[in-house]
Amino acid sequence: MSNIAASIITIGDELLIGQTIDTNSAWIAQHLNELGIDVLRRVAVGDDRTAIIKALDEEIAVASIVIITGGLGPTADDITKPLLCEYFGGKLVVDEQVLTHLKDIFTKRNRPFLERNMKQAEVPDNCTVLFNKMGTAPGMWFDENDKVIIALPGVPFEMVSIMEVEVLPRFKKRFFSDALLHRSVITAGEGESFIAEKIKDIEEALPAHIKLAYLPGAGMVKLRLTGRAADAAKLAGELDSWQKQFANRLENIVIALEDIPLEEILGRWFVANNATLGMAESCTGGYISHHITQVMGSSAYFKGCIVCYSNDIKEKILGVKKDTIEQYGAVSEQTVTELAQNTLSVLEVDYSFAITGLMSIGGESDRIDVGTVWMAVADKYTVKTKKFWFPYDRPRNKEMAVSMGMLMLWKFINGKL
Ligand code: AMP
Ligand code: MG
Repeated sequence: MSNIAASIITIGDELLIGQTIDTNSAWIAQHLNELGIDVLRRVAVGDDRTAIIKALDEEIAVASIVIITGGLGPTADDITKPLLCEYFGGKLVVDEQVLTHLKDIFTKRNRPFLERNMKQAEVPDNCTVLFNKMGTAPGMWFDENDKVIIALPGVPFEMVSIMEVEVLPRFKKRFFSDALLHRSVITAGEGESFIAEKIKDIEEALPAHIKLAYLPGAGMVKLRLTGRAADAAKLAGELDSWQKQFANRLENIVIALEDIPLEEILGRWFVANNATLGMAESCTGGYISHHITQVMGSSAYFKGCIVCYSNDIKEKILGVKKDTIEQYGAVSEQTVTELAQNTLSVLEVDYSFAITGLMSIGGESDRIDVGTVWMAVADKYTVKTKKFWFPYDRPRNKEMAVSMGMLMLWKFINGKL
């Protein structure tokens, strides 16, 4: 593939003391990688002139692309802009488009426009301005002896927006004449090594211009094919055929041929089948419903969720028998079964999902192991239950419950549970 190398420099004292987690580097690295640009190094420095200059010298020496984030704000600690201007031998001038945009933002927010803000409209006269429609600090693109140096604001969503709108499309044009295409096969229920073994011969037969990556997540493994070739139409055909081979081989565990989240896959099924869904969530407190409602248009099939955290609510609103809870406990197959069955009638839905579990010490931890979770899915004919045990801390256990819960629902509606 390509040999274009990039370095990422993140600037900010907050990164060095661990107050802010450097998510910018991860995002940038992922997206450069998808384009076929290798990230050589990631460097973090404080808001310090000497440290920034040293990082620039070192990274420009080894990489064709250097992407910098942070230090572009209007406060005294933000020194990246004047420093870069000086480094590349330019001078700061007011950019009219940026100035209009800034004044517009201040008017809309009903805030006075200060001298300090005027500074934000200044850009080095030797760079291409990367317009920041999400915020006040513009990005900058410097061309220096065949190398590209880019500075972006530290605020993650501003950085992402400029990368997507201004930077990545320019990279595609400038560095690649070949087409770059992806195909995905999303699987659930088996681990990476099982899959690798099962598709070994197909993987080995892949031509050099098509690569396969394994991207494991909770309960799922995504396979991503990346191809690069001059003839886009021919490449698309090739990728489709390889994708089909992998999918056919993995048949039973394939849940989608597109890289979309599980909640979206579920959403499409419910729309296509004109069916409705409701939930009763105890230990996840509505977190699974939150994911379901992240999907645009989910109101067409998702009717609601009862967060039945206390036994009282399980009994009064969802009609779980007092006896059931007394005899078997709130975290039990019997309780989750009643929750799922009664959710069907209480919420008047075609399908229901229920979950009850013990996420950390307390509650019924004298009776059952921490991490024990019962889930159930029901329709009017049947109810299926499953017991899980998650070994992590509370937040991670909840995340696992979300993934496994949605997966269980997917299996149920597809007749695979
Ligand atoms: P700055 O452009 O330095 O004014 O950064 C503005 C804000 O963006 C900081 O206060 C951080 O909260 C955030 N930020 C800066 N750098 C990063 C980074 N590398 N990853 C994630 N967030 C960042
Ligand atoms: Mg800063």
